[in-house]
Amino acid sequence: MRDSYGREISYMRISVTDACNLRCRYCLPEEVCVATAAVCLTGDEIIRIAAAGVSLGIRHYKITGGEPLLRPDCAEIIRRLKQTEGVETVTLTTNGVLLAQSAEMLRAVGIDRVNVSLDSADEKQYRTITGKDSFLQVCEGIRAAKEAGIVVRLNCVSDRDTDYEGLVLLAESFSVPVRLIEMMPIGYARGRVCISGREVLERLAARFGTPVSCQEAGNGPAFYVRFPQLAVPVGFISAVHGPFCGSCNRIRVTCEGRVKPCLCYEDSYDIRPFLQKEGQREACAEYLKEIILKKPEAHCFDRVQQVTEHKAMSRIGG
Ligand code: SAM
Repeated sequence: MRDSYGREISYMRISVTDACNLRCRYCLPEEVCVATAAVCLTGDEIIRIAAAGVSLGIRHYKITGGEPLLRPDCAEIIRRLKQTEGVETVTLTTNGVLLAQSAEMLRAVGIDRVNVSLDSADEKQYRTITGKDSFLQVCEGIRAAKEAGIVVRLNCVSDRDTDYEGLVLLAESFSVPVRLIEMMPIGYARGRVCISGREVLERLAARFGTPVSCQEAGNGPAFYVRFPQLAVPVGFISAVHGPFCGSCNRIRVTCEGRVKPCLCYEDSYDIRPFLQKEGQREACAEYLKEIILKKPEAHCFDRVQQVTEHKAMSRIGG
Protein backbone atom coordinates (compact mmCIF):
# COMPACT_ATOMS: atom_id res chain seq x y z
CA MET A 1 0.00 0.00 0.00
CA ARG A 2 0.96 3.64 -0.27
CA ASP A 3 1.24 5.89 2.76
CA SER A 4 -0.14 9.44 2.98
CA TYR A 5 2.89 10.75 1.05
CA GLY A 6 2.55 8.27 -1.81
CA ARG A 7 5.40 6.03 -0.69
CA GLU A 8 5.02 2.32 -1.44
CA ILE A 9 5.43 0.40 1.85
CA SER A 10 6.90 -2.99 0.98
CA TYR A 11 9.33 -3.79 3.79
CA MET A 12 8.79 -4.72 7.45
CA ARG A 13 11.51 -5.07 10.09
CA ILE A 14 10.43 -7.35 12.91
CA SER A 15 12.37 -7.44 16.17
CA VAL A 16 12.23 -10.86 17.80
CA THR A 17 14.01 -9.96 21.05
CA ASP A 18 15.46 -6.95 22.88
CA ALA A 19 18.20 -9.02 24.54
CA CYS A 20 21.72 -8.67 23.16
CA ASN A 21 25.03 -10.42 23.81
CA LEU A 22 27.08 -7.29 22.98
CA ARG A 23 27.24 -3.97 24.80
CA CYS A 24 28.04 -1.55 21.96
CA ARG A 25 28.93 1.84 23.38
CA TYR A 26 26.43 3.74 21.23
CA CYS A 27 23.60 1.20 21.41
CA LEU A 28 23.49 -0.66 24.73
CA PRO A 29 26.56 0.31 26.75
CA GLU A 30 28.01 -1.91 29.48
CA GLU A 31 27.03 0.44 32.30
CA VAL A 32 23.36 0.29 31.35
CA CYS A 33 21.34 -1.94 33.57
CA VAL A 34 19.24 -4.15 31.31
CA ALA A 35 15.86 -5.30 32.53
CA THR A 36 14.77 -8.81 31.63
CA ALA A 37 13.92 -9.21 27.96
CA ALA A 38 10.44 -7.97 27.21
CA VAL A 39 7.67 -10.46 26.71
CA CYS A 40 8.41 -10.99 23.06
CA LEU A 41 6.04 -11.72 20.23
CA THR A 42 5.54 -15.46 19.81
CA GLY A 43 6.28 -17.22 16.53
CA ASP A 44 2.52 -17.39 15.84
CA GLU A 45 2.10 -13.66 16.46
CA ILE A 46 4.99 -12.87 14.10
CA ILE A 47 3.51 -15.00 11.33
CA ARG A 48 0.11 -13.33 11.82
CA ILE A 49 1.51 -9.82 11.51
CA ALA A 50 3.43 -10.85 8.39
CA ALA A 51 0.27 -12.35 6.88
CA ALA A 52 -1.55 -9.05 7.53
CA GLY A 53 1.41 -7.18 6.03
CA VAL A 54 1.33 -9.32 2.90
CA SER A 55 -2.33 -8.46 2.38
CA LEU A 56 -1.25 -4.78 2.22
CA GLY A 57 1.59 -5.51 -0.22
CA ILE A 58 4.47 -5.85 2.25
CA ARG A 59 6.62 -8.54 0.62
CA HIS A 60 10.03 -8.16 2.27
CA TYR A 61 10.77 -9.00 5.91
CA LYS A 62 13.87 -8.46 8.03
CA ILE A 63 14.42 -10.22 11.35
CA THR A 64 16.23 -8.03 13.85
CA GLY A 65 16.63 -7.41 17.59
CA GLY A 66 18.38 -7.12 20.15
CA GLU A 67 20.34 -10.04 18.83
CA PRO A 68 17.91 -12.29 16.95
CA LEU A 69 20.14 -15.38 17.06
CA LEU A 70 19.80 -15.41 20.86
CA ARG A 71 16.28 -16.57 20.30
CA PRO A 72 16.22 -20.39 20.05
CA ASP A 73 13.32 -20.38 17.57
CA CYS A 74 14.84 -17.74 15.26
CA ALA A 75 15.43 -20.15 12.36
CA GLU A 76 11.97 -21.65 12.85
CA ILE A 77 10.40 -18.17 12.60
CA ILE A 78 12.33 -17.58 9.37
CA ARG A 79 11.22 -20.96 8.00
CA ARG A 80 7.57 -20.12 8.73
CA LEU A 81 7.89 -16.62 7.26
CA LYS A 82 9.42 -18.06 4.09
CA GLN A 83 6.40 -20.37 3.80
CA THR A 84 3.90 -17.55 4.26
CA GLU A 85 2.12 -16.90 0.99
CA GLY A 86 3.13 -13.59 -0.56
CA VAL A 87 6.39 -13.24 1.37
CA GLU A 88 9.19 -12.74 -1.18
CA THR A 89 12.31 -12.25 0.91
CA VAL A 90 13.28 -12.88 4.52
CA THR A 91 16.62 -11.50 5.66
CA LEU A 92 18.38 -11.27 9.01
CA THR A 93 20.59 -8.71 10.70
CA THR A 94 22.92 -10.10 13.35
CA ASN A 95 26.07 -9.17 15.22
CA GLY A 96 27.44 -12.50 13.99
CA VAL A 97 28.56 -13.80 17.39
CA LEU A 98 26.35 -16.90 17.10
CA LEU A 99 26.42 -17.10 13.32
CA ALA A 100 28.93 -19.94 12.93
CA GLN A 101 26.66 -22.34 14.82
CA SER A 102 23.48 -21.08 13.11
CA ALA A 103 24.66 -20.78 9.49
CA GLU A 104 23.72 -24.25 8.28
CA MET A 105 20.26 -24.00 9.88
CA LEU A 106 19.68 -20.56 8.36
CA ARG A 107 20.58 -21.91 4.93
CA ALA A 108 18.26 -24.87 5.44
CA VAL A 109 15.27 -22.62 6.22
CA GLY A 110 15.95 -20.52 3.12
CA ILE A 111 17.23 -17.20 4.46
CA ASP A 112 17.70 -14.79 1.56
CA ARG A 113 20.55 -12.75 3.03
CA VAL A 114 22.38 -12.13 6.30
CA ASN A 115 23.68 -8.69 7.26
CA VAL A 116 26.49 -8.88 9.79
CA SER A 117 27.01 -5.76 11.90
CA LEU A 118 30.73 -5.29 12.42
CA ASP A 119 32.16 -1.93 13.43
CA SER A 120 35.87 -2.72 13.48
CA ALA A 121 38.46 -4.81 11.65
CA ASP A 122 40.68 -4.86 14.71
CA GLU A 123 40.22 -7.27 17.61
CA LYS A 124 41.21 -4.77 20.31
CA GLN A 125 39.11 -1.95 18.97
CA TYR A 126 36.18 -4.34 18.57
CA ARG A 127 36.35 -4.94 22.31
CA THR A 128 36.41 -1.21 23.03
CA ILE A 129 33.29 -0.69 20.90
CA THR A 130 31.27 -3.77 21.86
CA GLY A 131 32.52 -4.51 25.39
CA LYS A 132 33.14 -8.15 24.39
CA ASP A 133 35.96 -10.30 22.97
CA SER A 134 33.93 -11.78 20.14
CA PHE A 135 35.76 -10.47 17.05
CA LEU A 136 37.19 -13.84 15.99
CA GLN A 137 33.82 -15.54 16.54
CA VAL A 138 32.17 -12.99 14.23
CA CYS A 139 34.82 -13.60 11.54
CA GLU A 140 34.24 -17.33 11.93
CA GLY A 141 30.50 -16.69 11.57
CA ILE A 142 30.98 -14.75 8.34
CA ARG A 143 33.13 -17.56 6.91
CA ALA A 144 30.62 -20.21 7.98
CA ALA A 145 27.71 -18.32 6.42
CA LYS A 146 29.62 -17.90 3.17
CA GLU A 147 30.56 -21.58 3.14
CA ALA A 148 26.91 -22.48 3.69
CA GLY A 149 26.13 -20.51 0.52
CA ILE A 150 24.33 -17.64 2.28
CA VAL A 151 24.49 -14.16 0.74
CA VAL A 152 26.30 -12.01 3.31
CA ARG A 153 27.12 -8.34 3.63
CA LEU A 154 28.70 -6.27 6.36
CA ASN A 155 27.20 -3.23 8.06
CA CYS A 156 29.37 -0.78 9.93
CA VAL A 157 28.18 2.25 11.86
CA SER A 158 30.62 5.14 11.46
CA ASP A 159 32.09 6.55 14.64
CA ARG A 160 34.82 9.09 15.30
CA ASP A 161 37.56 6.43 15.42
CA THR A 162 36.34 4.06 12.69
CA ASP A 163 39.13 2.59 10.55
CA TYR A 164 37.26 2.64 7.22
CA GLU A 165 40.22 1.42 5.21
CA GLY A 166 40.67 -1.57 7.52
CA LEU A 167 36.96 -2.40 7.35
CA VAL A 168 36.65 -2.34 3.58
CA LEU A 169 39.81 -4.45 3.30
CA LEU A 170 38.34 -6.94 5.76
CA ALA A 171 35.16 -7.07 3.66
CA GLU A 172 37.33 -7.65 0.59
CA SER A 173 39.10 -10.53 2.34
CA PHE A 174 35.67 -12.16 2.86
CA SER A 175 34.52 -11.17 -0.66
CA VAL A 176 31.40 -9.48 0.69
CA PRO A 177 29.95 -5.99 0.15
CA VAL A 178 30.15 -3.57 3.05
CA ARG A 179 27.83 -0.71 3.98
CA LEU A 180 28.95 2.27 6.03
CA ILE A 181 26.12 3.77 8.03
CA GLU A 182 25.85 7.23 9.56
CA MET A 183 25.28 7.18 13.32
CA MET A 184 21.74 8.34 14.12
CA PRO A 185 21.14 10.44 17.27
CA ILE A 186 18.92 7.82 18.90
CA GLY A 187 19.12 6.37 22.40
CA TYR A 188 22.70 6.24 23.66
CA ALA A 189 24.01 7.66 20.37
CA ARG A 190 22.35 11.00 21.08
CA GLY A 191 25.16 13.54 21.33
CA ARG A 192 27.71 11.33 19.53
CA VAL A 193 29.45 12.77 16.50
CA CYS A 194 27.89 11.82 13.17
CA ILE A 195 30.51 11.43 10.43
CA SER A 196 28.85 12.08 7.09
CA GLY A 197 28.86 9.45 4.37
CA ARG A 198 30.36 12.00 2.02
CA GLU A 199 33.38 12.49 4.29
CA VAL A 200 33.90 8.73 4.51
CA LEU A 201 33.60 8.36 0.75
CA GLU A 202 36.25 11.04 0.23
CA ARG A 203 38.61 9.31 2.65
CA LEU A 204 38.19 6.00 0.88
CA ALA A 205 38.59 7.62 -2.54
CA ALA A 206 41.97 9.02 -1.45
CA ARG A 207 43.17 5.47 -0.79
CA PHE A 208 41.25 3.29 -3.29
CA GLY A 209 40.72 5.64 -6.26
CA THR A 210 37.78 7.55 -7.77
CA PRO A 211 34.54 5.65 -7.14
CA VAL A 212 31.93 4.77 -9.75
CA SER A 213 28.33 4.24 -8.66
CA CYS A 214 26.91 0.74 -9.03
CA GLN A 215 23.77 -1.29 -8.33
CA GLU A 216 23.42 -3.83 -5.52
CA ALA A 217 20.37 -5.85 -4.50
CA GLY A 218 18.59 -4.88 -1.27
CA ASN A 219 15.60 -3.17 0.30
CA GLY A 220 17.42 -0.29 1.89
CA PRO A 221 18.44 3.24 1.02
CA ALA A 222 22.13 2.47 0.40
CA PHE A 223 24.00 4.17 -2.39
CA TYR A 224 26.71 1.81 -3.71
CA VAL A 225 30.03 2.53 -5.37
CA ARG A 226 33.00 0.56 -6.62
CA PHE A 227 36.54 1.80 -6.08
CA PRO A 228 39.11 0.83 -8.74
CA GLN A 229 41.47 -0.61 -6.14
CA LEU A 230 38.94 -2.59 -4.13
CA ALA A 231 37.27 -5.81 -5.23
CA VAL A 232 33.99 -5.39 -3.30
CA PRO A 233 31.22 -2.78 -3.55
CA VAL A 234 30.88 -0.25 -0.75
CA GLY A 235 27.47 1.11 0.22
CA PHE A 236 26.74 4.34 2.06
CA ILE A 237 23.65 4.79 4.18
CA SER A 238 23.46 8.46 4.97
CA ALA A 239 20.79 8.00 7.61
CA VAL A 240 21.26 11.57 8.88
CA HIS A 241 22.57 13.61 5.96
CA GLY A 242 20.92 11.72 3.09
CA PRO A 243 17.50 12.96 2.07
CA PHE A 244 16.04 9.50 1.50
CA CYS A 245 12.79 9.78 3.48
CA GLY A 246 10.99 10.41 0.17
CA SER A 247 11.64 6.79 -0.82
CA CYS A 248 11.31 5.20 2.66
CA ASN A 249 9.55 1.87 2.16
CA ARG A 250 9.54 0.47 5.69
CA ILE A 251 7.80 0.05 8.98
CA ARG A 252 9.11 -1.58 12.13
CA VAL A 253 7.60 -3.89 14.71
CA THR A 254 9.21 -4.00 18.16
CA CYS A 255 9.61 -7.29 19.98
CA GLU A 256 6.67 -6.30 22.20
CA GLY A 257 4.42 -5.92 19.17
CA ARG A 258 4.40 -2.16 18.76
CA VAL A 259 4.41 -0.90 15.18
CA LYS A 260 6.72 2.06 14.64
CA PRO A 261 6.19 4.15 11.52
CA CYS A 262 9.48 6.13 11.79
CA LEU A 263 12.72 5.50 13.69
CA CYS A 264 13.08 9.15 14.65
CA TYR A 265 9.89 9.52 16.70
CA GLU A 266 8.72 7.64 19.77
CA ASP A 267 5.22 7.07 18.36
CA SER A 268 4.33 3.40 18.21
CA TYR A 269 1.09 1.44 18.20
CA ASP A 270 0.23 -1.79 19.96
CA ILE A 271 -0.87 -4.35 17.38
CA ARG A 272 -0.69 -7.31 19.74
CA PRO A 273 -4.44 -7.41 20.50
CA PHE A 274 -4.91 -8.18 16.78
CA LEU A 275 -2.47 -11.10 16.83
CA GLN A 276 -4.00 -13.27 19.53
CA LYS A 277 -5.98 -15.75 17.49
CA GLU A 278 -6.63 -17.02 13.98
CA GLY A 279 -9.23 -15.14 11.97
CA GLN A 280 -8.13 -11.60 12.90
CA ARG A 281 -6.14 -11.02 9.71
CA GLU A 282 -8.48 -8.46 8.20
CA ALA A 283 -8.81 -6.48 11.42
CA CYS A 284 -5.04 -6.63 11.89
CA ALA A 285 -4.43 -5.44 8.32
CA GLU A 286 -6.93 -2.62 8.81
CA TYR A 287 -5.10 -1.42 11.93
CA LEU A 288 -1.71 -1.77 10.21
CA LYS A 289 -3.06 0.36 7.37
CA GLU A 290 -4.16 3.06 9.84
CA ILE A 291 -0.66 3.06 11.35
CA ILE A 292 1.06 3.24 7.96
CA LEU A 293 -1.08 6.27 7.13
CA LYS A 294 0.39 7.98 10.22
CA LYS A 295 3.95 7.58 8.90
CA PRO A 296 5.54 11.05 9.01
CA GLU A 297 6.92 12.67 5.90
CA ALA A 298 10.52 12.84 7.14
CA HIS A 299 12.84 12.30 10.08
CA CYS A 300 14.45 15.25 11.86
CA PHE A 301 17.85 13.80 12.77
CA ASP A 302 19.44 17.10 11.76
CA ARG A 303 17.42 18.83 14.57
CA VAL A 304 18.25 16.59 17.50
CA GLN A 305 16.02 18.47 19.97
CA GLN A 306 13.01 17.39 17.92
CA VAL A 307 13.96 13.69 17.90
CA THR A 308 11.47 12.18 20.33
CA GLU A 309 12.76 8.58 20.25
CA HIS A 310 14.91 8.06 23.35
CA LYS A 311 14.88 4.28 23.64
CA ALA A 312 18.03 2.24 22.93
CA MET A 313 18.17 0.78 19.42
CA SER A 314 18.27 -2.69 20.93
CA ARG A 315 14.75 -2.07 22.30
CA ILE A 316 13.39 -0.60 19.08
CA GLY A 317 14.84 -3.16 16.70
CA GLY A 318 17.35 -1.25 14.59
N1 SAM B 1 22.02 -7.35 16.87
C1 SAM B 1 21.64 -7.20 15.50
C2 SAM B 1 22.79 -6.59 14.71
O1 SAM B 1 23.83 -6.32 15.29
O2 SAM B 1 22.65 -6.42 13.51
C3 SAM B 1 20.36 -6.42 15.26
C4 SAM B 1 20.05 -5.23 16.10
S1 SAM B 1 21.19 -3.88 15.97
C5 SAM B 1 20.34 -2.67 16.92
C6 SAM B 1 20.93 -3.38 14.29
C7 SAM B 1 21.88 -2.39 13.75
O3 SAM B 1 21.59 -1.12 14.28
C8 SAM B 1 23.35 -2.66 14.01
O4 SAM B 1 24.04 -2.61 12.79
C9 SAM B 1 23.75 -1.49 14.87
O5 SAM B 1 25.10 -1.14 14.67
C10 SAM B 1 22.81 -0.42 14.36
N2 SAM B 1 22.65 0.74 15.22
C11 SAM B 1 22.46 0.79 16.56
N3 SAM B 1 22.38 2.06 17.00
C12 SAM B 1 22.53 2.84 15.91
C13 SAM B 1 22.54 4.25 15.68
N4 SAM B 1 22.36 5.11 16.68
N5 SAM B 1 22.70 4.72 14.42
C14 SAM B 1 22.86 3.85 13.39
N6 SAM B 1 22.84 2.52 13.52
C15 SAM B 1 22.69 2.02 14.76
